[in-house]
Amino acid sequence: MRILVANDDGYLAPGLAALVAACEGFGSIDVVAPEQNASGTSNSLTLNRPLSAYTAANGFRYVNGTPSDCVHLAMTGLLAHRPDLVVSGINNGANMGDDTVYSGTVAAAMEGYLFGVPAIAFSLVEKGWAHLDAAQRVMRDVLAALVPTLKVQPAAAPWLLNVNIPNRADADRLPRRVTRLGRRHASEAVIRQVSPRGDTIYWIGPAGDAREAGEGTDFHACASGAVSITPLQVDLTDHANLATWASRLGRP
Ligand code: MN
Repeated sequence: MRILVANDDGYLAPGLAALVAACEGFGSIDVVAPEQNASGTSNSLTLNRPLSAYTAANGFRYVNGTPSDCVHLAMTGLLAHRPDLVVSGINNGANMGDDTVYSGTVAAAMEGYLFGVPAIAFSLVEKGWAHLDAAQRVMRDVLAALVPTLKVQPAAAPWLLNVNIPNRADADRLPRRVTRLGRRHASEAVIRQVSPRGDTIYWIGPAGDAREAGEGTDFHACASGAVSITPLQVDLTDHANLATWASRLGRP
């Protein structure tokens, strides 16, 4: 069993070390993570310059690129072997609902999934590493439930899981719920400032609050004190409205 570990907070992030520790004993571990924090970079690949890969003193590899770059490189030549599982995180902050579209943490896992490898994205719901040890135990429990099945029989079709863990001392004793993604309100307004050189600059505002957070969603599970596990797919097709669009726009 070969496990590839990535993240989007960068190779120095405490959450990455916790995820690596959670993987210990389940197989051989390779870490390929971004050199710098690349949160919010989604699935972007760096196409306008070459990438460099380095190895830190602790053996972690890091790449001067995005989370998707890291997993892409690992899948296509950086590593001698293809991994059996890709894990990403644990992210400093939630990745629920619409966050999954922007998240570099989810994207790193998705890159593995797109290459046909089962993958899991882990996120800590509240920022800060206050209860990282408890989150590490949750990640270990999830891996313990999945890795043996992969060892017996590699997944016929890849799967992609998005796991959000409340940042609580008792996280490993919380229920685990399989959920669907909720939705967020639109992001808050951009923040306008004047730079030290007199130019107008803008900060992207914070993500909106949960809008669709009903029973069964990731937001609802975490708010009610559970670990949320959402199985994701990548097909963005609006299947329910295919026929409607065909009648409006199709031409024989
Ligand atoms: Mn991040």
